[in-house]
Amino acid sequence: MMKIKMPVPLVEIDGDEMTRIIWKMIKDYLIEPYVELNTDYYDLGLTERDVTDDNVTMQSALAIKKYGVGVKCATITPNAQRVEEYNLKKMWKSPNGTIREVLDGTVFRTPILVKGISPSVKTWKEPITIARHAFGDIYNAKESVVDGAGKAELVITRADGSVDKQLIAEFNEAGGVARGMFNTTNSIESFAKSCFNYALDTKQDLWFATKDTISKKYHHRFKDIFAEVFETTYKDQFEKADIEYFYTLIDDAVARVIRSTGGFIWACMNYDGDVMSDMVATAYGSLAMMTSVLVSPQGYYEYEAAHGTVTRHYYKHLEGKETSTNCMATLFAWTGALKKRGEIDGNEELVSFADKLETASISTIEQGVMTGDLYMLSELENREKVSTEAFIKQIKLTLEKML
Ligand code: NAP
Ligand code: MG
Repeated sequence: MMKIKMPVPLVEIDGDEMTRIIWKMIKDYLIEPYVELNTDYYDLGLTERDVTDDNVTMQSALAIKKYGVGVKCATITPNAQRVEEYNLKKMWKSPNGTIREVLDGTVFRTPILVKGISPSVKTWKEPITIARHAFGDIYNAKESVVDGAGKAELVITRADGSVDKQLIAEFNEAGGVARGMFNTTNSIESFAKSCFNYALDTKQDLWFATKDTISKKYHHRFKDIFAEVFETTYKDQFEKADIEYFYTLIDDAVARVIRSTGGFIWACMNYDGDVMSDMVATAYGSLAMMTSVLVSPQGYYEYEAAHGTVTRHYYKHLEGKETSTNCMATLFAWTGALKKRGEIDGNEELVSFADKLETASISTIEQGVMTGDLYMLSELENREKVSTEAFIKQIKLTLEKML
């Protein structure tokens, strides 16, 4: 068989621990025998980040801007324990944070559904994708515990020196708490554009919700910016694609999500997204079956798994013991990136191969061959728990029958 050609590279970002092991297996067994893989490779393994003073992380983010598409393996975000374990020069920043700052993107998380593992919410038939605005609000706020009588004020000093001052609260001797938080027009607009682009890309409706009835300025501004961006740039494209932009109040949205059949994108303000993504992920089953893509407002894409480096399994692997780690989220990061590369370049063969690889992996699980995490969740009667590598080899067998 002739290998599929890839004239333009995608950015390959390697990572740490168990996911680094899975990364290589996916390439060796499932991609390189069929595709003349063309990647611009960056090693973000913690050792290499330390050696390069973390420059390699910045280089990889800039490469995504150059080529438009990247795929990233999970990486360790160092804490004090990791600094000791790897004898690091510094407690380097989260690579995902650095890449997100460069690409200014929004993260979309989508569950992978398979027969035999039913969502806790019975009506959900299709995936719900959550888009979380990952900037501002309570995550970049200033807070105070007010330890006695006094007052809190909101003061805006404009560049021309004029001042707006509002009394927030007067406290008695028992004091209280106060917080100042913000967001920026640029960030909200970028968030809106990423969401509208991704809805068009995946041909799904977009939902957005805030509490604008109570927060008549702060939340209302989010509602207005989304409406403006939609009217000026996306309305016609949505009509052509036969998809809808739907705005409602956050409490109404929560109720509708639970009654829905899924199959849409739910854009959330920062805090709502933090909380709701954990709820939705858990209700669908497992983080190991959740893919994640960072979409920039300029249309750059970075695909990854939603889970971490699966440290506990890696230590078992190092002891020479058999592991049963689920490769699905990492595999779907690869297929997502290959498909996007193929779509941008008009490379139908590559798109079709990536589709088949996804189908083969889902079909393998539905035939009853799965890793331990899914074995515990699945309702299939005839099912078998296999090792990390055996699962990938089984996907290969299923794939070969389809090619
Ligand atoms: P984790 O790697 O997601 O693993 C937590 C637990 O979830 C695992 O111990 C395992 O449970 C289960 N699990 C996760 N992925 C699985 C898979 N593919 N197959 C089977 N089970 C899976 O989270 P963590 O242990 O909190 O973090 C480990 C490291 O990852 C940290 O250094 C953190 O900084 C990093 N991290 C990176 C990213 C990223 O790069 N995007 C995201 C999160 C965390 P059992 O042990 O019960 O089997
Ligand atoms: Mg959370």
